Amino acid sequence: MFRKLLSFDEAKQLLEQTFDAKPVGVETVSISEAHERVLAQDIVAPLNIPPFSRSTVDGYAVKAADTFGASEDQPVTLKFCGHVAIGESPNVAVKNGLAAEIVTGAPIPDGADSVVMVEQTTQKGNNISVHRPVSIGENLMAAGSDIRKGETVLKAGRFLGSREIGVVAAIGLTEVVVYRRPKVAVLSTGGEVVAPGEPLPPGKIYDINAHTLCVAVREAGGEPINLGIIPDKKDKLTKALKNALGSADAVITSGGVSVGPKDFTPQVVDSLGKPGVIISGVAVKPGKPMTIAVVDGKPVFSLPGNPTSSLFMFSVFVHPVIVKLAGRPEEELPKLKAVTAKKMFPARGRRTFIMVNLAYNKTGTLLVRPVPTGLSGAITTLAKADGFVEISEKQQFVDAGTEINVYLFGKFGKTETA
Ligand code: AMP
Ligand code: MG
Repeated sequence: MFRKLLSFDEAKQLLEQTFDAKPVGVETVSISEAHERVLAQDIVAPLNIPPFSRSTVDGYAVKAADTFGASEDQPVTLKFCGHVAIGESPNVAVKNGLAAEIVTGAPIPDGADSVVMVEQTTQKGNNISVHRPVSIGENLMAAGSDIRKGETVLKAGRFLGSREIGVVAAIGLTEVVVYRRPKVAVLSTGGEVVAPGEPLPPGKIYDINAHTLCVAVREAGGEPINLGIIPDKKDKLTKALKNALGSADAVITSGGVSVGPKDFTPQVVDSLGKPGVIISGVAVKPGKPMTIAVVDGKPVFSLPGNPTSSLFMFSVFVHPVIVKLAGRPEEELPKLKAVTAKKMFPARGRRTFIMVNLAYNKTGTLLVRPVPTGLSGAITTLAKADGFVEISEKQQFVDAGTEINVYLFGKFGKTETA
């Protein structure tokens, strides 16, 4: 194990070289459980959709040629030849000069090649007057026109939302093969940390990180396993980490990575297998003391205890790995350009991420300014931020009035003025 601060880019590169993040496996799930999963196989349609040609309006199924020349004043008159019910095979056929009453979604009867909308007809007894001509294929959806039998309707790697689930249901499938969600063990460390819900004795604080990190794991497509709070004792930490590595595809710890007398997470992690700790501190702010290890093919991320640093380091280093383990398509954070309202400084020699708020000024310029707190231990800093800006370690400052990229945590739709 070595102690050399790597630059942000070096750390990212070394992690990619040492750990090849690939999907952890596949499983079959029912369509009702497939939401937000990722297809592991192409889906090929076993049938045509629609399976039969069907009407898209209420009206009369006709031969288009019979309606040619029809107009408002001089309608063409056809003879009623029966009804086509929905959900059944038609028991009428449309011959020259005939019209069959039909409803939206019902099968087009034999002989008909189009449908006249009921609004463009008048009916007197068995005479149907058509006031507007239709062309062949008008007001119907032909068999196989939506999905052709044998067509690949969804490709492997596709994220399954409501629209994709609709395609799966349309072709009658009840199950899909998706990538398995990577199991990610989450451990908090520290003798001062207590689970929410427990009494809070003097000197203790509630465990924030287990909760933020478990949710963040889920957002990235993983399945979090909260292994609780481990006191700052080497034997307890060793046992907990071995258990975590035995049951999960990746492990995240928080706390115990600084230079305090009880900060021995990296040392314990390094003793568990090869190659051990590969990144020991990164020249970033926030999150500098983070370490990353690979233990017998599994990544172990040891994040700082400070909740803001911990969650932020998760988003830049851990999230992309979990996304790959989950087989999800890689995503970029949404960003927009805004103008700095204040001069901003990076921490010396460190890639610096500053949590920011956005607001329009009176002339409609979108301004960006640091979240007003400054306290590095405040969890509310992240909760208050609209996003963050990134300042290179090579830059001395970003002057006020500079246009800069702002990476967004969510949708930005505020319109209040600064
Ligand atoms: P450490 O990295 O263990 O020195 O912790 C840095 C700071 O973060 C200390 O103030 C800890 O009390 C705090 N901290 C550590 N773990 C957690 C946690 N799970 N939830 C909230 N705060 C924490
Ligand atoms: Mg600690």
